[in-house]
Amino acid sequence: MTLFAGLEQIVKTEVPLASYTWMRIGGPAQYFIEPTTPEQLAEVLRRCRENEVPVRILGGGANLLIDDSGVRGAVVRLAGETFGRVRFTKDGVEAGAAAELHRIVLRSVREGMSGMECLAGIPGSIGGAVRMNAGGAFGDIGNMVESVDLMDSDGVGFTRLRGELVFGYRHTNISAKVILGAQFRLMPDDPRRILNQVKRIWIYKKNTQPLWVRSAGCIFKNPRGLSAGALIDKSGLKGRRTGGAQVSDRHANFIIADPGTRASDVLKLINIIREDVYKRWEVYLELEVEVW
Ligand SMILES: Cc1cc2nc3c(=O)[nH]c(=O)nc-3n(C[C@H](O)[C@H](O)[C@H](O)COP(=O)(O)OP(=O)(O)OC[C@H]3O[C@@H](n4cnc5c(N)ncnc54)[C@H](O)[C@@H]3O)c2cc1C
Repeated sequence: MTLFAGLEQIVKTEVPLASYTWMRIGGPAQYFIEPTTPEQLAEVLRRCRENEVPVRILGGGANLLIDDSGVRGAVVRLAGETFGRVRFTKDGVEAGAAAELHRIVLRSVREGMSGMECLAGIPGSIGGAVRMNAGGAFGDIGNMVESVDLMDSDGVGFTRLRGELVFGYRHTNISAKVILGAQFRLMPDDPRRILNQVKRIWIYKKNTQPLWVRSAGCIFKNPRGLSAGALIDKSGLKGRRTGGAQVSDRHANFIIADPGTRASDVLKLINIIREDVYKRWEVYLELEVEVW
């Protein structure tokens, strides 16, 4: 592996990606790389750039559909203590990109720091959540971001402050290749009140979303002023199946995947939904889930 000579400890080849995603679908990554320090990451990015190897960043895999044929190039997954760190301060929390969002939500209850509770029930990492501006009816992560630490494709690190960042619906203006970590502003509050809010959101999600099965969350973005789930539901598509993939009976914007489902099943179902919804409502549904 001359391309990554000296980095053999963190680089593996032809690693199946299915188990790194919430859908449990996807073929192998040509190079699967788990840097544990910014220096290692910078070196990996520089080598990929010099050798024209495409790079993708994998977070918790909760918003991804990976093709059955896998991914050519490098899939980088931040790992280790540095990227997984979480530190609460009197003003909020600082977290590495690999830290799990749901753990921070739970810890913010214990710490008596309010803000993150609006993200209860959203799986994935801090990096993925910032990249996607994860959130929903109760609030988005972007509202709390104070600054984000980034690295570009040349391996150069830098920080963007709140005033330079724009967070929209499942979108940010961050164009840097890698989010290394972020600082969030939170407000001190009564832990019981925060816990009650977490519970309220959890109960709402449990009643309206299929949380315990394989999915990638909402498949489509809501068109402006409309609900993608309602359009799919009103098109009579709840329960519609292609191979192992099925439109959820509980929330029509979720596709659930039985064990053994192929990415091609999910993609076929996505096309059926898009065509039916377009025929009936003349609305073209854009993907929220990212397809690799
Ligand atoms: C059951 C379920 C419920 C969900 N509910 C919601 C919800 O209510 N609201 C919501 O917004 N989402 C929801 N989602 C989708 C998903 O949880 C979010 O999009 C989440 O933020 C994805 O984070 P991740 O770490 O899994 O990112 P991944 O899926 O791994 O990646 C998503 C994108 O982020 C990029 N990325 C990841 N980490 C980094 C990094 N360190 N640097 C740069 N780019 C990076 C990836 O390259 C990719 O483009 C749900 C998903 C599931 C399975």
